[in-house]
Amino acid sequence: MKIGIPRALYFYVYYPMWYGFFSSLGHEIKLSVPTNKEIINLGVSHSVDDICISVKVFHGHVKYLLDKKDVDFVFVPRIASEEKYKYTCPKLAALPDLMKSAFVSDTNRILTATFYTRQGEKPIVKAFEEIERQLGDSDEKIKMAVKMGIRYQKLAVKSLRSGHTFLDVVKNIRDLDSLIKKPVQKQRYTVALAGFPYDVYDTFTNGDVISKLEDSGVGIVTTDMLDPKVYKHYSKYMIKDLFWYQANAAAKGGMYYIDSPDIDGVISISSFNCGISSIYQKLLDLYSKEIGKPVMHIIVDEQTGDAGLATRIEAFIDLIRVKRGDGLVAQTNNLHGTEDGVHVRSL
Ligand code: SF4
Repeated sequence: MKIGIPRALYFYVYYPMWYGFFSSLGHEIKLSVPTNKEIINLGVSHSVDDICISVKVFHGHVKYLLDKKDVDFVFVPRIASEEKYKYTCPKLAALPDLMKSAFVSDTNRILTATFYTRQGEKPIVKAFEEIERQLGDSDEKIKMAVKMGIRYQKLAVKSLRSGHTFLDVVKNIRDLDSLIKKPVQKQRYTVALAGFPYDVYDTFTNGDVISKLEDSGVGIVTTDMLDPKVYKHYSKYMIKDLFWYQANAAAKGGMYYIDSPDIDGVISISSFNCGISSIYQKLLDLYSKEIGKPVMHIIVDEQTGDAGLATRIEAFIDLIRVKRGDGLVAQTNNLHGTEDGVHVRSL
């Protein structure tokens, strides 16, 4: 079978698990192309107006794969929870239903299962059994495939903990052991990116913030590189933990980086129309005021034109240079906006 996997939303968290699972069963994986203008247009024309850009983009990726007639199924997982008593946003929990209502004539090609990923191996086996009932593999094979999926996911987490981005994980999915051993070059300045992985890593929707920083000689780290244990204690600055796992990771991971002496500044990246992001961004604002480290928010939507983004990043780099006593002239000659980029709002 050929299984289509949309390169959007939780792809940027669990692709290694899905890769390990489907490939060890002998299924062929077809990824949608990285987000581009065409995918955004497809997404916008197949989704409701007032939904966030991240979910619109997901519609575009699903449609791209459904249009490939050799793709037997498009995988649309329902990620219900990633930690005990913490849940995902309702749009993510309802993702298969949203896709089935958007693509009515293809509902039988949408492959889905419900995941509770932080509650041990059993619920993951159960979720994959749900998938395999639709594909027809034996129980024994499924158990082996789940083990392989979990193994890949663990290697991906190890790669992130050693300072590699999730984009590196995707590029090196066949040889994560080598990626883990590869050292990450340190730069004079380091900026932390806080946010949901799909907002941080979708380089088209966010105007490729990562490349813009790296081209200016700034190293980056991301909140998904952190072991949640290191930022657990930041709950006390939030009155109580947020209801959503990824929002806690962005808020507390961002606070951890605000406190880290090796980090020069924090940039949060989020989708326009996401209420959950506005909560963690407010928490980061309050905390950064207390500590005095620069924080910048980038909020993206589907409108074209990102001329302002390069300027804002230049200004941010100047700010961190001044804080280090290096003067105002940022090495930003390589910063250019793209014509088909994104509209960036500032808070
Ligand atoms: S958490 Fe925000 S960005 Fe993510 S799906 Fe929900 S509304 Fe969209």
